[in-house]
Amino acid sequence: MKSEVLSIALPLLLLASMPAAAEWHHREAAIMGTRIAVELWHDDPGEAAAATEAVLEEMHRVDGLMSHYRPESQLSRINAHAAEGPVAVDPELAGLIDEAAGFSERTGGAFDITYASVGYLYDFRERRHPTDAQIEAGLAAVDWRHVIVDLGASTVRFTQPGVRIDLGGIAKGYAVDRAVALLAARGVRHASVTAGGDSRILGDRFGRPWVVAIRHPDDPQRFIARIPLEDAAISTSGDYERYFDEDGERYHHIINPSTGRSAGGLRSVTIIGPNATETDAISTSVFVLGPERGLALIEELPDLDAVLVRSDGKVLYSSGLTPP
Ligand code: AMP
Ligand code: MG
Repeated sequence: MKSEVLSIALPLLLLASMPAAAEWHHREAAIMGTRIAVELWHDDPGEAAAATEAVLEEMHRVDGLMSHYRPESQLSRINAHAAEGPVAVDPELAGLIDEAAGFSERTGGAFDITYASVGYLYDFRERRHPTDAQIEAGLAAVDWRHVIVDLGASTVRFTQPGVRIDLGGIAKGYAVDRAVALLAARGVRHASVTAGGDSRILGDRFGRPWVVAIRHPDDPQRFIARIPLEDAAISTSGDYERYFDEDGERYHHIINPSTGRSAGGLRSVTIIGPNATETDAISTSVFVLGPERGLALIEELPDLDAVLVRSDGKVLYSSGLTPP
């Protein structure tokens, strides 16, 4: 009799003393016009679900602030009114626009959120692109120096009419960084957060690195490289994300600010570095710079590494990834 009770009680006791269900938790959602994936390790399923929910909420919040699709977003208000005078915005948005200017400076203007002054004339879903005359007219407004951020007053203004900004080249990386900071603050030590082509890895996978695959530009099922990562960010920019082909030419969403046209020379750029805001902005920038100038920029930045797929299909690695 006694042993029968024990045989039931003992497993229950063991269960109670063990963590409830220490395991990987995975969730996906569609936010910011892209696929969001959150994977984390937690020993409490309730806390894991709450942490994941907090990440998705944060993504919605950043999207609400920075989306150019939403007419009510602060970013849309800037585009509508900043040529008339300073527009008051959240310090967070003013800060990111200021950070974007820093990337413009570091990349010789390859990264430029005012690309949108011409960029808005493209519609990749509708297969629409601007005429040469429209590009010429719009280019006068493309210059990151046309955007004046007052961090103290938290305002943004444009120096002239016709300027538009778009944070599509940096906002996802920023959101991913915010998400990872939020998870770390909740005590999560092993996680991966992805927004489209931008991911950040927190910790490792219990003694092993996370492995992030870089897809082939023409086939999402094939991979050109697998990169082991711990506590790092990785961003990929590609000409296959948003595009259409016309008369043998590919019109895609990464625009060279000096020409107003889709950047050539590369099919994809992957940047590995410490945070996703930076890898996001730099992946877009290197795409604009092209293989030679792009790789030269990465060699100057000791924190960053790169994998480039050139237009002819050749894969190029920065020296940090090249075996000696
Ligand atoms: P990504 O996939 O990170 O390279 O971002 C591409 C997005 O960045 C585009 O869809 C645009 O929203 C934006 N973008 C395109 N060209 C530029 C540029 N030269 N500088 C900054 N942002 C850009
Ligand atoms: Mg980017």
